[in-house]
Amino acid sequence: MTKTDHTPLLQLRDVRKQYSIRTGLGLGEPLTVTAVSRVSLTLRQGETLGLVGESGCGKSTLARLILGLEKPTSGDIHYRGGRLDEWRRLDLRRRMQMIFQDPFASLNPRQKIGDIVEEGPLIHHMGSRKERKEAVLQLLGMVGLSPEYANRYPHEFSGGQRQRVAIARALALHPELVVCDEPVSALDVSIQAQVLELLADMRKRFDLTYLFISHDLSVVGHVCERAAVMYLGSLVEEGPTESMFADPLHPYTKALLAAAPIPDPDAARRRAKLSGDPPSPIDPPGGCPFHPRCNQAFEPCSRVAPQLAERAPGRRTACHLYDPEHQATLATTAAKETL
Ligand code: SF4
Repeated sequence: MTKTDHTPLLQLRDVRKQYSIRTGLGLGEPLTVTAVSRVSLTLRQGETLGLVGESGCGKSTLARLILGLEKPTSGDIHYRGGRLDEWRRLDLRRRMQMIFQDPFASLNPRQKIGDIVEEGPLIHHMGSRKERKEAVLQLLGMVGLSPEYANRYPHEFSGGQRQRVAIARALALHPELVVCDEPVSALDVSIQAQVLELLADMRKRFDLTYLFISHDLSVVGHVCERAAVMYLGSLVEEGPTESMFADPLHPYTKALLAAAPIPDPDAARRRAKLSGDPPSPIDPPGGCPFHPRCNQAFEPCSRVAPQLAERAPGRRTACHLYDPEHQATLATTAAKETL
């Protein structure tokens, strides 16, 4: 892993995203769905931050907000110290790139590989035609593809090769931040390690910062220095991957880790099964959103929403188990259970 210089590249402050939806025949008052709920998060220059959680927890909505593709309902996003919505859209497009989950759907089947990689620099008027063509061939070589593939079409390639093309396309604009949205989950396991290694190489070579979205904790543990765990639109835990994985604080993180195929001799003693499905964001539970599934829930959990706060150096979590004001209740609950 490369060294992070700790300068904030991106800062989310109390970001919320809500949508109005109509159900049934579309009659009656629209319902409000909160996809992202008051998320505050910092992405530091040069780091790889993992964003994890089950499907529908708000990870992809958060990525779209970060990329400026959608506006938050409330809260601020700052990029390089300036408000995201004050940046020119074209500047942001160049500085922030995305690598999508599905390399079969993300490449235009009617474009040649060379044209796909060149498209961004062409739109941004980067270099002469000759310089762009040379840069494309160089990039294809860097991502492990033969330069002669530039004249071929996406359907001629395997999933792993297509993801290499997608990486070359993202790098062609010399971005600063790359949002990797489940970049290996559609690939065969044998190919995943190669693509992860390529991403790590490219990060070092181009001094990139990654936001790495994944539901796969073993992948996050392998590539990310820090991780942020989302549940039902909220951040529930954030911190260095190493300490979080060795000693997770939040019961949801514990359950995710227990379910992940991570080699860990101690895993058996902290198995915490995750039961049931996440509640609907249309009608989220009151108090802690995780309380209907939490095996450590106690008195305040169903009525008071916990706040994300630092509970250990560099470690934040939103859970009443660590709230000083609820320690007495917790001790009483534990005493009753031992009787
Ligand atoms: Fe479980 Fe309560 Fe912590 Fe929520 S606040 S995770 S319900 S212990």
